[in-house]
Order: sequence, then C-alpha cells, then structure tokens
Amino acid sequence: MNKFSMKLLAKTGNESFARSCVSAFCLEANPTLEEINDIKTAVSEAVTNCIVHAYSGKDDKFIDISVSLEGQKAEIIIEDYGCGIEDVDKAMQPFFTTKPDQERSGMGFTLIQTFMNDVKIISQKDKGTKVVMQKEFKKD
Ligand code: ATP
Ligand code: MG
Repeated sequence: MNKFSMKLLAKTGNESFARSCVSAFCLEANPTLEEINDIKTAVSEAVTNCIVHAYSGKDDKFIDISVSLEGQKAEIIIEDYGCGIEDVDKAMQPFFTTKPDQERSGMGFTLIQTFMNDVKIISQKDKGTKVVMQKEFKKD
C-alpha cells in the first residue's frame, strides 16, 4: 500500500504537472503504456474541469489530488472547492457542457468513464466537487 497527495493552484500550466505526478506515482504498479496514458487523460480532464468550471479561471484557488495504490489498483481523487455541479447525472452525459461557447465539447467525464474502471462524482452546489476514480492495472 502506498499513498501520495498534493495541493496545487488551479492554473492551466499545472495540469501537465499534475498528470505527470500521478502517472509517475502509479509506475510502482507496473502499468502498461496504454494504462499510463489512460491515467494521464483522466487526470488531465478532471484537473481542467476544476480550472475551467469550478473556479472559472480564477487561479488563486486550490485543487487537492491524492492517489492510493494497493497492489494492482489505484484510486485517484481530484477535489475542488468551487461552484459545484447542479445535476451530476446530466453533467456525465456525452456532449453535455455548460460552456459550449468556449470550445468545450462536453466529453471530459465521458473520457474519464471510458478510461477508468470506476468513477464517482460527489458534488455540492457552491461547496465543490470530488471526482473519485479507480484504475485496475493488468497483472504482468
Ligand atoms: P470538455 O471536457 O469536452 O472540454 P466540458 O468540460 O464541458 O467539455 P465535461 O468535462 O464532461 O465537459 O463536464 C461536463 C459539465 O460538468 C461541464 O460543462 C460543467 O458544467 C460541469 N463540471 C465538470 N466538472 C466540474 C467541476 N469540477 N466543477 C463544476 N462543474 C463541473
Ligand atoms: Mg471537461
């Protein structure tokens, strides 16, 4: 069992740092290149959502990221304290976006669900959003 957590400002430039940190930490479980890319995409989408939606570009707010590794399983949690999501089921539908004007396609949560084994979104209006994702790595 191993754990890692970090807190970083919701700046666009921090998105690639976050996805590199999380994927590097998961290397202990000997993931395939494909599995590492799945993790990178999911972290990237969730962190971007915090920056773009939760905090609407205000970059003095924090995102909390944690990873727990147990054998071949990783649990990744990405949490913000921003605006929250009114209807989570609706937000998870493919092509649903509240920012169609900003070149958003509404595919972030769909990608996360496709690339991870399990995804839970816990959100409260004006309190924030927690995305809990599980990834199981194939045994080699
Ligand atoms: P894309 O990810 O394709 O650029 P998108 O971000 O709009 O577009 P999703 O990532 O699937 O699409 O998110 C769907 C919707 O859920 C968003 O448009 C937004 O309204 C809401 N949402 C997602 N994450 C958050 C968050 N952390 N805080 C508040 N609202 C969120
Ligand atoms: Mg998105």
